[in-house]
Amino acid sequence: MNYAQIRQYDVANGPGIRCTFFVTGCSLHCKNCFNEEYQNPNFGQKWTDEETEKIIEYLKQDEIDGLTILGGEPFESCDDLIQVISKIKENTDKTIWIFSGYTYENLMKKENCKKLIELCDVLVDGRFVEELKDLRLKFRGSSNQRLINIKKSTPDKVVLINEDEL
Ligand code: SF4
Repeated sequence: MNYAQIRQYDVANGPGIRCTFFVTGCSLHCKNCFNEEYQNPNFGQKWTDEETEKIIEYLKQDEIDGLTILGGEPFESCDDLIQVISKIKENTDKTIWIFSGYTYENLMKKENCKKLIELCDVLVDGRFVEELKDLRLKFRGSSNQRLINIKKSTPDKVVLINEDEL
């Protein structure tokens, strides 16, 4: 798995102050993709244990509310992310948000994607659709995208986050 960047402090991709990282590789090719460079799975640097340790140290800081994983498309690096997130969860209990261009329903059909989802707390799902772009939305670009409360959802029932509580 490659990644493009790690941000120690990020206030744009989830509630509070979060540590974030951007995995590269995405085959969805959305129109007006926010960063076409990140579609290439070879772009950026290889993720190693050193990066995992760095994230754990960041998350141990009191002022950090949680971790957010973005892409590219994180679910195209499912197996690597399962290992990374499992290690992180052994060492911290901060919330984990993950973004995907795929929908929850589609991801839940694949065993490794389901496993990755279940390691996280919130999934922001769906492609960015230019025609549905809405600047008033919190933490997402277009109105088809959803903030899903993973712990309250089941494969058959999606429960959304109450945005007023964020
Ligand atoms: S899912 Fe994200 S990274 Fe992938 S093409 Fe769409 S906007 Fe770009």
